[in-house]
Amino acid sequence: MSTNVDVIVIGAGPVGTTALALLGRAGLTAIGLEKDEEMWPTARAVHFDGQTMRTLQGLGVADQFVGVTIPMKDVAVVNEADEVLVHAPTDRLGDQGWNEHISFHQPDIERLLREVVASSPGIDLRCGVTATEVRTTDDGVEVTAVDAHGDAQVLTARWAIASDGGRSATRHALGIETDKHGEDARWLVVDGDLVDASGCDADMVQFARYSRPALWLRLPGTRVRMEFMLVPGDDPAEIVTPAAVERISRGILPTDRFTPDRQAVYTFRGRIAQRWRAGNVFLAGDAAHQAPPLFGQGLCAGIRDVANLVWKMDLVARGAADATLLDTYESERKPHAQYWVETAAQQAEIIQTLDPEVAKGRDEFVRAHPEASAVPPSPALGPGLHDGDRDERAGRLGIQPILVDGTRLDDMVGNHFLVAVDRELYAELATAVKLALDDDADVVTLTDPLKIEQILASVGARAVVMRPDHYILGVGDTAAEAERIIAGIPSIAHAATSTV
Ligand SMILES: Cc1cc2nc3c(=O)[nH]c(=O)nc-3n(C[C@H](O)[C@H](O)[C@H](O)COP(=O)(O)OP(=O)(O)OC[C@H]3O[C@@H](n4cnc5c(N)ncnc54)[C@H](O)[C@@H]3O)c2cc1C
Repeated sequence: MSTNVDVIVIGAGPVGTTALALLGRAGLTAIGLEKDEEMWPTARAVHFDGQTMRTLQGLGVADQFVGVTIPMKDVAVVNEADEVLVHAPTDRLGDQGWNEHISFHQPDIERLLREVVASSPGIDLRCGVTATEVRTTDDGVEVTAVDAHGDAQVLTARWAIASDGGRSATRHALGIETDKHGEDARWLVVDGDLVDASGCDADMVQFARYSRPALWLRLPGTRVRMEFMLVPGDDPAEIVTPAAVERISRGILPTDRFTPDRQAVYTFRGRIAQRWRAGNVFLAGDAAHQAPPLFGQGLCAGIRDVANLVWKMDLVARGAADATLLDTYESERKPHAQYWVETAAQQAEIIQTLDPEVAKGRDEFVRAHPEASAVPPSPALGPGLHDGDRDERAGRLGIQPILVDGTRLDDMVGNHFLVAVDRELYAELATAVKLALDDDADVVTLTDPLKIEQILASVGARAVVMRPDHYILGVGDTAAEAERIIAGIPSIAHAATSTV
């Protein structure tokens, strides 16, 4: 089949736009279809983690993302009686080379992503164009795209990424069901500017109040976000008025100091699509999973999806890996995303209780175990292209060192596999392996201790191979182990079989 492009991306919310930016950086061609003419002007996500910032760093405009974000300096949990149950600092550099908790106004991030897309040759984002039909064929996809005048065009590509949001029409059309996790809950989300008022002391406060669970977040500049759970007896018309917002915020957002730019009611839900792939169509972002936003991980998970998928598409498109590599997208990502959906759904159940007795027991537990309120560590990937079944250090996210000159290592390694191996062990590798590493443009090999000693120390090994999405392919301590994991790099494996 002759195709228009390598990939059609359906839906250019933050996940689809990141996919387009990553595809452009990889040198693939893509068409993005976004039904809305204009970028969505209001925010949903307000927080992402260091791993997400690291992915954005890979787009080459980290300074611009830094310019529109602030590190979250501390978090607190406060109960009905305004007792501070937990107060923890979060203002520190994490192992991804960035702060672990970063706040922002979502349209600022999306605008920067769109600028990256606009400057990417080979990427064509078409706004005001709706994908109305998606067909997977033996060797590709056909997508019917309808513009604002009703004119339809059939576009073809090798693959499609359906990042068309929680209501994903593509997912429905492909007959993919979702599994439900936890109970749905309706929350009022209020964004705006708070001027000449102190707000809350901590940058993020979880109000574990049984009368009305709520959340406070300080964003860049004078922006703040509060979220309030709707409770029985709320009048939907009254609850969104400035006076109601002042009342339910217990005076944190006074009408004369707070200028809202939107109030919207969302249903927070936990859902996981049962399948993430149908032929040559891959679901990503909210189309594949939705989590109650308690740990601020929904968007982070969506960006992990496309960061996982795009380098695999790149290798397959260039013939440097077998097409079966794409089977590892769902097997790796689905259990990982499911962990966050389940964990957020459990946390929501704890925070959202309206029962004073249950809340009392919870408060006692949190007082005694403040560490239990912290964001849990991210899990390993599900089974896929890594050694996780034989070594639990593999399949986990690798660290990003900051070098003595202040450089972040990814800026040196780029969009490649990294083979970090100590000099003595490198000397023991078979000559054919060293030649294969030298010849492979998809691999960067580093032996300089100044660059790799933190990585090796972090896994307690003499050799480590990291994938372009920074997950650990494998670790080793002997030349034989190092050679085995190097042989697992798809481009090296592919070159070895094609030269036999
Ligand atoms: C109140 C709230 C707070 C949150 N806070 C956080 C947070 O702090 N951190 C975090 O990580 N996550 C958070 N999340 C989750 C996060 O907002 C979502 O996971 C994320 O926005 C999903 O992005 P997406 O691109 O997958 O989907 P969407 O943003 O829904 O984008 C889908 C896009 O597809 C387009 N589209 C749909 N159908 C078609 C079609 N047929 N053709 C063309 N285009 C189409 C839509 O117009 C839209 O632009 C929060 C969510 C909520 C509701």
